[in-house]
Order: sequence, then C-alpha cells, then structure tokens
Amino acid sequence: FQEYAAAGTVKQNYANILLLLLRLRQACDHPLLVKGHQSVFKGDGSIEMAKQLSKERVIDLLARLEVSALCAVCRDTPEDAVVAMCGHIFCYQCIYERITTDENMCPVPNCRNTLSTESVFSSGTLKICISGKTSTHAIASSSADDELSSISQSSYISSKIQATVDILNSIINMHALTDSDTIESNPNRVSPVKAIVFSQWTGMLDLLEFSLNSNLIQYRRLDGTMSLNSRDKAVKDFNIDPEVRVMIMSLKAGNLGLNMVAACHVILLDLWWNPYAEDQAIDRAHRIGQTRPVTVSRLTITDTVEDRILSLQEEKRAMVNSAFGEDKSSAHATRLTVDDLRYLFRI
Ligand SMILES: [Zn+2]
Ligand SMILES: [Zn+2]
Repeated sequence: FQEYAAAGTVKQNYANILLLLLRLRQACDHPLLVKGHQSVFKGDGSIEMAKQLSKERVIDLLARLEVSALCAVCRDTPEDAVVAMCGHIFCYQCIYERITTDENMCPVPNCRNTLSTESVFSSGTLKICISGKTSTHAIASSSADDELSSISQSSYISSKIQATVDILNSIINMHALTDSDTIESNPNRVSPVKAIVFSQWTGMLDLLEFSLNSNLIQYRRLDGTMSLNSRDKAVKDFNIDPEVRVMIMSLKAGNLGLNMVAACHVILLDLWWNPYAEDQAIDRAHRIGQTRPVTVSRLTITDTVEDRILSLQEEKRAMVNSAFGEDKSSAHATRLTVDDLRYLFRI
C-alpha cells in the first residue's frame, strides 16, 4: 500500500488494495482462509452453456475474471469469483442468491441482462472450455478431497473458532443447568436458548463446521449457494427442532426476509465494511415476536486491522446518520476513501 500511496495511484488500484485488506481480515479469522483454498462449485450446468460460446468470448470472459475486480453486489473482493454473460463480476454466493430468487436481472445498474445459474461462469469452467477437456468431475472431486484433507489434517484451531465453540458450549450448558426442572414439568413453555453465528466467508463456515462436529454441537447452515428449499428447511429446523441449537450463516445470505427469533445470541466472526449490513444480520433475531433479550458477541483480534475497521465503522455510522438521514443502505457507507485506507494500513 505504501508503494501505491507514494506513487499517488491509490484510486486506480482500489481493487488490489481491497484484496490486500481482505487477506489481512481473513488472517484474523483463520490462516487457512488466506491460503485461498476454493470451495467447490456446484454450477455444473454452466459448462454446457459456456461450450456454446465462441472461443474469443470465453477468453474475453476469462480475462475479465483474472483482473482483480470487485463484486458488483457486495463491493468487496469476490469470494469464488464468477463472471456473468454480460461481463460483470460477482461472488458466486452473491449472484447465486439473486438468480435463484425472483429478480434474475443483472444487479449492475443499466445492464438489464437476464441471468440464470447457467450463465455465470467460474474461471475453472471457462478453462475447461478452452482446453476442451470433457471430464469435469475428476477435477471437482479431487479439489474437494484436497480441501477436506487439508482441513482435517490441521489440528490447528484458530482463536476465533475456539472462542466460538466456548461461547456456544456455555450457552448450551447454561440452559441445561437453569431450566432443567422447568423443561420436565412443562416442555412447551421454555424454548431452548439458540445462537446464530455469522461469517462473510463460506470457507470460515467450513472450518467452523469441522469444530462443531467434533464438539457434537448440532447446527444447521445457511449460505447464498444453497437452493431455496434447503434454505427453508434449515431455517425451519433451527426454529422448531429443540436439538438444533446453532445456525451458522453467511452474512451474504442475510438479505432474505428470514425470521429466526428462536435465536437470542448472535456471534459475528468477522467485520463488515458497512455497519448496516451487520445491523441487518442482527435483526434476524431481533424481531417482532422476540420475547427475550438478544446478546451480540463480536469476535475481533486486538492490535490488528480489525481494531481499525471497528473504529471506521463507528465513524461511518455517525457520518451516515448525519448526512444521509434515512438512506442507510447506500454505497456511501461501503466505499472506502483514500484517508480510510491510509488509516487501515497505519500510514
Ligand atoms: Zn459479493
Ligand atoms: Zn451485467
């Protein structure tokens, strides 16, 4: 960053700088995230579609994917980047969620291209088209195996995951101690204490799942790449099944009108540029019908980039409140200024 600042090219290199920040933010969650293992795409249908494009077109789309661009939905460095037929770049999660709900128009203003799950491509898909290989399954499954084995072999559990498991365990046990008699005498009145855990990265959710499994904590998962039916089922299980105490969830899947008042604990594993996206997430639990106080835990690592993101959030909250009144969701809160960046890199 210092180099960009000295050369006066911070604005031109905004996307690259966000990528640097992304790595710092991910390092706070778990070192494996920075190694950049890719989650495996399920969008196999898009290969057939991509094969019908001209070779020039495929090469052009691939080139767009490989320059670092920002996701047009969340305006952050894309996770599992995909390119749409119209050339716009998204996180797989961000765009998948759009095209599986009713609006299937490209979310970029003035683009108006209609998109479907078959018309967004990962770089893997495009490369297969160029090389003319037909067996995609071999590639997909071997990378899935690699990923799983690298997670299971690492006995290392990051501090955030450890802290999360500790909090969840204490929530579950606390309930068992204080409410055990009431439960037996009147099982319908006391609903068990439940928690939602949020992260921005599906990779972090994968790592967390691993620890939840080994701690025998029952959970459901919700992320932007799941089908509507499996999402509905996950939410229903979480709200109704007394054994399912935890929902782990991607912040990017947060813009559905979900109601999860069964939860009265919210744990945020990482920080988001736009504080209102976090507020929205917390509102999942904090809704009409919620009868208990909601506790929010935000896990951050001191003396890292996260401290500075937190104080930037405070500032933006104050600024947005005074300058924009009601329009809190606007891009103003998301875009970082040169001064913000200087601050984040401590220059
Ligand atoms: Zn995105
Ligand atoms: Zn578009």
